[in-house]
Amino acid sequence: MENNYIEKAEQALLHTYNRYQIILDKGEGVYLCDVNGKKYLDFAAGIGVCSLGYSHERYKKALKEQVDKLLHVSNLFYTAPIADAAEKLKKAAQMDRVFFTNSGTEAIEGALKAARKYAYAKESGKYEFIAMNRSFHGRSMGAVSVTGTEDYRTPFEPLIKGVRFAEYNDIESVKAQVTDKTCAIIMETIQGEGGIYPVDPDFLKGVRELCDREDILLILDEIQCGMGRTGSMFAWQDYGIRPDIMCIAKAVGNGVPVGAFAMTEKAAQYSLKPGDHGTTYGGNPFACAAVSAVLDIFEEEKILDHVKEISAYFEAELDGLVQECDTVAARRGKGLMQGLALERPVGEVIANAQREGLIVISAGGNVLRMLPPLVITKEHVDEMIEKLKMALRA
Ligand SMILES: *Cc1c(COP(=O)(O)O)cnc(C)c1O
Repeated sequence: MENNYIEKAEQALLHTYNRYQIILDKGEGVYLCDVNGKKYLDFAAGIGVCSLGYSHERYKKALKEQVDKLLHVSNLFYTAPIADAAEKLKKAAQMDRVFFTNSGTEAIEGALKAARKYAYAKESGKYEFIAMNRSFHGRSMGAVSVTGTEDYRTPFEPLIKGVRFAEYNDIESVKAQVTDKTCAIIMETIQGEGGIYPVDPDFLKGVRELCDREDILLILDEIQCGMGRTGSMFAWQDYGIRPDIMCIAKAVGNGVPVGAFAMTEKAAQYSLKPGDHGTTYGGNPFACAAVSAVLDIFEEEKILDHVKEISAYFEAELDGLVQECDTVAARRGKGLMQGLALERPVGEVIANAQREGLIVISAGGNVLRMLPPLVITKEHVDEMIEKLKMALRA
């Protein structure tokens, strides 16, 4: 029975993933269940997407109500859900203008186009981007062009023109890449796929100052680190700066595919105008009902306060593991976005953890990555530590 699904999928899908040999069936709270009824404590949340946990009643109700009304209208019309979602997201993001997309990658594409349009409208002759080594921004041609991992780029060359790479958290290396053609600097506020590297606050301030001085737009990719994961709604909000453009996705829909890029009025006034950019699905009433429900639930359940509170415990317990286990070299991260640098193959530990009934994932450079649902409790952290210790011992 179970092998049948694996075989079927393997026969029909393009082989772009080495999937785990698990067939997931349903979820409840912070647990997933496979087709054999085995339960897993989920510390990956579908790569930081399912932040409210699974089968959230209030969220499901909002989706069901919208299914009964209207799923799609195209962007030729207004709907109540897009108005509500845009207003709420703009407020949460401290931005002025929002464009809804269907994914994180599309949010990146939109942000890159927005920056080029800004330079074009100002007749500045600028078109270059500075991106960071070790970054990840998605898999489309534009997103791959600013992704700082050669393996992801090389097979698809030639990529878009005018991208220069700098070292993350090294302001001098960024300054060395600035030319009179630089239109934007793009980076993650916390690097995710690259191995969980939080931004150095002074570096972020330095980049902001550099951008202000040279009329360069700062694009922050908050797709993984945003939406409450660090204890603030967006990670940059802790550092006394504001990006000109930001990218949002993953947890903003809690499982419904939706993303957005948002910008300040200063960027918007010179940027994308009717005819410059569009999407058929983006901002459809179903996706927007999800965004609205997620943002409402964040307020109603005081999710940010909870993340701040549980993070201290989570971090302390992980630091305990670093002390206790020889193969755990270091912890990096902020809030509920954490990585453990391992001194043994991370794949082994992930497989052992699955046998123990714990789901964790990896990130670049042999890092065990955790992005649990934001609603975890101390008991879940304790259970994770117990299971992870078993996995590290095996
Ligand atoms: C996941 C991710 C993306 C790409 O988002 P998709 O929804 O997979 O297209 C871009 N940037 C970062 C930082 C991500 O974590």
